[in-house]
Amino acid sequence: MPKREIVQIHIGQAGVQIANACWELYCLEHGIKVDGTLYEWDRSDDSYSPFFGVTAAGRAVPRVVMIDLEPTVIDEIRTGYYRHLFHPDGLLTGKEDAANNYARGKYGIGREMLDLALDRTRKVAEECNNLEGFIVFRAFGGGTGGGFTALFLEHLAGDYRKRSVMEFAVFPAPRVSTIIVEPYNAVLTTNSTIESEDVCFVMDNEAVYDILLRNLDTPRPTYTNLNRLLGQVVSAVTASLRFEGQVNVDLTEFQTNLVPYPRIHFPLITYAPFVPASKAFHESLSVAQLTNACFEPANQMVKCDPRKGKYMSCCLLYRGDIAPTDVNNAITSIKGKRSIGFVDWCPTGFKVGINYQPPTTVPGGDLARTTRAVTMLSNSTAIREAWERILRKYNLLYSKRSFVHHYVGEGMEEGEFQDAKEDLAALVMDYKEVDS
Ligand code: GDP
Repeated sequence: MPKREIVQIHIGQAGVQIANACWELYCLEHGIKVDGTLYEWDRSDDSYSPFFGVTAAGRAVPRVVMIDLEPTVIDEIRTGYYRHLFHPDGLLTGKEDAANNYARGKYGIGREMLDLALDRTRKVAEECNNLEGFIVFRAFGGGTGGGFTALFLEHLAGDYRKRSVMEFAVFPAPRVSTIIVEPYNAVLTTNSTIESEDVCFVMDNEAVYDILLRNLDTPRPTYTNLNRLLGQVVSAVTASLRFEGQVNVDLTEFQTNLVPYPRIHFPLITYAPFVPASKAFHESLSVAQLTNACFEPANQMVKCDPRKGKYMSCCLLYRGDIAPTDVNNAITSIKGKRSIGFVDWCPTGFKVGINYQPPTTVPGGDLARTTRAVTMLSNSTAIREAWERILRKYNLLYSKRSFVHHYVGEGMEEGEFQDAKEDLAALVMDYKEVDS
């Protein structure tokens, strides 16, 4: 059966830099060279087709659009190692950045980029025979990632109502913030995009930084290290579209199982095993160990304490050499643990995917190549903590109306500040309600 296609859209600095990691991994997984030619041309293997189109000359071309309001980050791609891989029409840059200002990305200069971005996305989408949907990558806290994405998604959701829109977003970290107005951007963008996306996987840089430092022996993690870990997760989520498996869970199935109410669509990501490259040949984890590791807060990509909340649903996506009976036993044991709480109204709670393809890792990267791995996507009410934290910071800034003039000066109504904070407070209440 022909595979369904995905178009990836990378927006702003974080979104575009994550693209480097994702496409590097996809190329390795599918045996594609840096110029798009294939190492071995096996016509029976179309595992790459959800993410790559193939030209008449036999070159694989990523189904991707990258958008930034300023040129530097995308220029690095245009002149870098993968410069021949991407179609130049899919790389869109403006001249001036959004200056960390959501309003500038949404109402100011971002508007000038909108038609071109939608047009290029349409072109890539039209090359698909059976489009599954879009995966968007960006940071909530950026002016482009927060503001422009809000504008773009409003229109994209209108144009492609029946297609799924999934997001991977960098969430402001609890302690570090590289941008003072990040809480404004994050809350405003959440309010704007909550209706335009089906599911949004968030990760905070501090949580991923700690994983690299503690579990993967990376002394000074950089964005490249962080992004490569995220690439692994994206690869796991999309593996079922590309590779054969015993229990292949497609993207729509995920959403059905993970999202009990339309607004409660921010699952937590955990991954296991985190084996440092230096210990590659010494560790072999059982399915039970892998599954238990998914419930360890130290393996989560957002800082919050799952013991303070309840799980509504968990999607366990295994890769590699995994026996379904071992998975069933592991889940039964998890259900028996008192420390892991589930809401009463969702008695089954688990959705399982098993894909035969073991994870691929980047040579010279932090993560060892293992014969099996698991990614858990769980909808837990504990994520409320992260929303409460960002809302507190937002309220502190807004109580003094500090920095508000920059937003109003770009054409944003001041009322949007109030609406966004009320909407986020309502989201926190929604989580409390499903918990009780
Ligand atoms: P934008 O270009 O205006 O959207 O701004 P950014 O994408 O730089 O958004 C700022 C947020 O993204 C901050 O929280 C940064 O810490 C984070 N960030 C920037 N670049 C990267 C990156 O390459 N990877 C990750 N994980 N986070 C990033």
